[in-house]
Amino acid sequence: MLYNKFSQFLKDKYGSKVYKLPLNLPVTCPNRDGSLGWAGCIFCGEEGAGFENLSCEISVADQLEQNVRYIGKNYGSEKFIAYFQNYSNTYLPYELFVKNISEACREGIVAIYISTRPDCIADRYMEFLAGLKEEKGIDIVMELGLQTVNYHTLKLLNRGHTLAEFIDAAIRIRKYRLGICAHYITDLPMDNVDDVIEGAKIISALGVSQVKCHSLFILKNTELERMYSRGEIQPITIDEFIDRTIRFLEHLDPDIVVQRLIGRAPAERTVFCNWNTSWWKLQDMIEAKMVEQNTCQGRLYKAGNSLMNKIH
Ligand code: SF4
Repeated sequence: MLYNKFSQFLKDKYGSKVYKLPLNLPVTCPNRDGSLGWAGCIFCGEEGAGFENLSCEISVADQLEQNVRYIGKNYGSEKFIAYFQNYSNTYLPYELFVKNISEACREGIVAIYISTRPDCIADRYMEFLAGLKEEKGIDIVMELGLQTVNYHTLKLLNRGHTLAEFIDAAIRIRKYRLGICAHYITDLPMDNVDDVIEGAKIISALGVSQVKCHSLFILKNTELERMYSRGEIQPITIDEFIDRTIRFLEHLDPDIVVQRLIGRAPAERTVFCNWNTSWWKLQDMIEAKMVEQNTCQGRLYKAGNSLMNKIH
């Protein structure tokens, strides 16, 4: 096995194909509503992370109903993950949060994945989720945007949080025995390969259960696009991206599930996206290189205390 693929993990865990159904809530983000800032992260587009979402005006139950009908019919699946994808889905009043999440607990939903920022994790909300998991037997995974562990880069990205908030969130979420998925951009031009390796090591040390890697596409009408057009940033090469992704995987705990290796965005909304190469072709190139290098996820992973194993 080259790496711990999400599709296989889902098949093993739930015994059949499972699809993630995106859900869109009328929420915002503290980095956009003025609490931390108005501009947002330099790469974030107006629509946040979801390009294929239904309107947030539609209730959670109805969004699920429509998605289940469409995906179930076209892909023959009966098990689904309710995925609260856009913006910061814990950044809303507690009662509203409880209502939305509870609405997602319906037949066929085997897990709920909730995207949010590392600085939007409150104990009360996690306690509710832990209770729900127990009561309904539904898995819960918190998807946290980390992007990089280099706190200088986090500042340049205008994330509005540093590495410390991610560490705090991971410790807090684990206290409630919920899953964590870290989102990570492996090809940030401000980072180098050492940052990416350190990222894999920190994610592993914190007991994160899944990672979702992104490649840096440049959306129109973002600060990143303006920096790009002024020549202030230059995407790294495709070869460097492949190399960084492999180094990341090699240092990652082999038990961590890899949701994906490459980000995607509609070409018409970007000025740069994945070197004009489809995500599956890029994935093939990474996998072929791993075979050529005879390497795999976790090949260079060492648990923090691994030296101690040698002396007793
Ligand atoms: S935290 Fe997420 S939603 Fe908020 S500005 Fe950054 S990328 Fe956009």
